[in-house]
Amino acid sequence: MHKIKGVFCLNSKCKHYFEDSCMLIQETGTVNISKTGKCEDFVAGEYIGYADRSDLTSVAIDPETLEVVFID
Ligand code: SF4
Repeated sequence: MHKIKGVFCLNSKCKHYFEDSCMLIQETGTVNISKTGKCEDFVAGEYIGYADRSDLTSVAIDPETLEVVFID
């Protein structure tokens, strides 16, 4: 087993996966990868950040009336 400090992971079926990132690495600094290349910290599930979407709102933007503000 190897402790890895950075990994690009797309395993959206893992409880630690959030938006193309491993939140376990964000929280603890490492993940454990086996000699055969498998992540030993994989936990099936959904990251807590995806759990409550009830307060999200969809908006439609009209490009004709959209104003762009440049900030120095
Ligand atoms: S724990 Fe492993 S499988 Fe899960 S998101 Fe992190 S690197 Fe990917």
